[in-house]
Amino acid sequence: MSRKERELRREFLESREYHTPSSGIFFKVKRLLYRQKSAYQEIEVIENEYFGKVLLLDGLVQTTERDEFFYHEILVHPGFMVHPNPQRILIIGGGDGGVLREALRYPVEGVVLVEIDPQMIEVSKRYFPWLSPALEDGRAELVIADGKNFIKGTDKTFDIVFIDSSDPVGPSAVLHDKDFYEIVKKRLNFEGIVVAQVGSPFFNLDSIVERGGFLKEIFRIVRFYVGTVPTYPGGSWCYVFLSNEIEPFSVRRRVPEGLKYFNLDVCEAAFALPNFIKTRLE
Ligand code: SAM
Repeated sequence: MSRKERELRREFLESREYHTPSSGIFFKVKRLLYRQKSAYQEIEVIENEYFGKVLLLDGLVQTTERDEFFYHEILVHPGFMVHPNPQRILIIGGGDGGVLREALRYPVEGVVLVEIDPQMIEVSKRYFPWLSPALEDGRAELVIADGKNFIKGTDKTFDIVFIDSSDPVGPSAVLHDKDFYEIVKKRLNFEGIVVAQVGSPFFNLDSIVERGGFLKEIFRIVRFYVGTVPTYPGGSWCYVFLSNEIEPFSVRRRVPEGLKYFNLDVCEAAFALPNFIKTRLE
């Protein structure tokens, strides 16, 4: 076998995500289950011995069967713990369905999931077992649209908005700028909350600090928090809790049964930032 063929086989046998030009994460590919370019991105699903099914968009890990709960639980539950009466929920992005599943654990009136890529929905239904049951819940409403266009065009308002975007590249780039957050704020009910994933506190701290700067011009309360996600760059991830009336510390309701990551101690600890982050964000 030639060197080129060996390289090709290696590439095929391994899925690599580079976090810097000289480091990253790789998965030995037990099976390539899906690889296609949609109108928006390259969607891949591989099977790995340890992590199970792994979803990649444009080569970037989005979620894995084994560790998806780390991200979905810490993104969703802090907001639900403190909102006085969370009834109308919006999820922008989130095509793998994990955030939808977590939001539906609460007695909400309705959850609108706005996903730009219909192919993502089909892939998630096929390979990630938690999506279909969530979409079949009568309270879930799936909208196939660009999240920024949706939020601009809707007259609906929401109690909690989750921004479960992919990385700030490609179709997701519009979900990370000041203009987008200003529009989101206009769609919030009184005591409304926005929670967004904002990247790696190790690799993306500068962009998190920049985002914090404009968010403080839009929201009175801007609270960053962190949580571990084993397969994300650096192994920890940063989120931001935004509101004008509600702080993320006055817990009002019980934690749902059956969670694997989130509890009230984890929730409180998440907002305790390590010095290298805290000193940059104050
Ligand atoms: N980090 C998440 C996790 O661990 O589950 C995954 C993020 S989720 C896969 C990101 C979703 O946002 C994708 O389904 C992608 O198609 C969608 N998306 C990207 N840009 C979008 C946009 N402008 N409007 C709505 N959805 C968008």
